[in-house]
Amino acid sequence: MMFKKGACLIVSGPSGSGKSTLIKEILKEFDDVYFSISTTTRPKREGEIEGVDYYFVTKEEFEEGIKKGLFLEWANVHGNYYGTSIEQVQKALSEGKLVIFDIDVQGFEAIMKTPLKKITTSVFVTTPTMSELKRRLKQRGIDDEETIEKRLQNAKKEIEYMPKYEFILINENLEKSKELMLALAKVARLKKDYLEIEEFIKFWINN
Ligand code: ADP
Ligand code: 5GP
Repeated sequence: MMFKKGACLIVSGPSGSGKSTLIKEILKEFDDVYFSISTTTRPKREGEIEGVDYYFVTKEEFEEGIKKGLFLEWANVHGNYYGTSIEQVQKALSEGKLVIFDIDVQGFEAIMKTPLKKITTSVFVTTPTMSELKRRLKQRGIDDEETIEKRLQNAKKEIEYMPKYEFILINENLEKSKELMLALAKVARLKKDYLEIEEFIKFWINN
């Protein structure tokens, strides 16, 4: 369609709540979507691919990136740095794409202070209970006991940010949650600021 600007969908929620699983569903279903690949200093997990899941860098490299102003936002989460690169996000938005961010609550708050706020839809994903979160983190089989404990303690703080989000997705039944996430990806592009409205109106009157 003509006159479209890009749009953003921010997905936050405790680690293990299902964000990656649900985002993968959007990437599978839509092609005019760009997943904002974050940069992180956390060690690569088994199965993760450099440049697909994350850009994995050292602490020094990350701090250099901060100094150079390469990040739209960055935060320290569970003791590691995570950040969103400006360049690729801008490129995707200029192509009218829906940019998906899997970022924590600090990153969400930072982006909501930028002009991107107007084209941003936000959703907080959570498990129905904290014990279910623990079960999923254990079942994912990636993190050791100490890391899981750290993630659970962090989750208790993150859940307090829920009211700041536009949408809440309680990820209980996976099939249903996938459907709801796809619906959100569609709704994100119905925001009025997704359109160059003035241009559209001129076009509409003349045609
Ligand atoms: P996050 O990206 O939020 O850290 P993941 O997408 O990695 O979370 O999901 C954590 C674990 O929970 C994975 O093993 C995933 O397969 C599982 N999972 C996701 N959604 C559900 C669900 N609705 N019911 C049961 N398990 C789920
Ligand atoms: P994980 O280590 O489980 O992949 O991610 C841990 C947390 O970091 C998640 O809450 C995830 O949303 C967040 N995160 C990932 N990338 C970024 C980023 O670029 N910026 C911010 N602020 N948080 C991020």
